[in-house]
Amino acid sequence: MKHLLLTDTRTGVTAELIFLLVFAYVLWAILLAFLARKKEIGSFRQLLISLFLTPVVGTLFYLGSGDRKMEIYQVTRYQCKRCKYVFTEEYTYCPYCQKDGYEVELEKTFKDMT
Ligand SMILES: [Zn+2]
Repeated sequence: MKHLLLTDTRTGVTAELIFLLVFAYVLWAILLAFLARKKEIGSFRQLLISLFLTPVVGTLFYLGSGDRKMEIYQVTRYQCKRCKYVFTEEYTYCPYCQKDGYEVELEKTFKDMT
């Protein structure tokens, strides 16, 4: 008995090699799921696709999936330098301060919205 490994004599494939392939398969799928966190596809769906449709298909899905849209957009606001009131529309002078008799120009500011 030369071979101590479980060798399938018909194909020459050892149990070790099969284990290694399964390990690589699962590891690949998990890695893709991890990477897909920031993708539109999401970790869970990515994991299922990679496990059931092979990681090769999973990789294609991963590459085809766009980045998850960050739901942040900038809006322009106009702030009065005197009373600090923020307006959504642009005025030449702050209407509130104008009532008080001051002609205060509004300052353009950008606000991140989610
Ligand atoms: Zn004002």
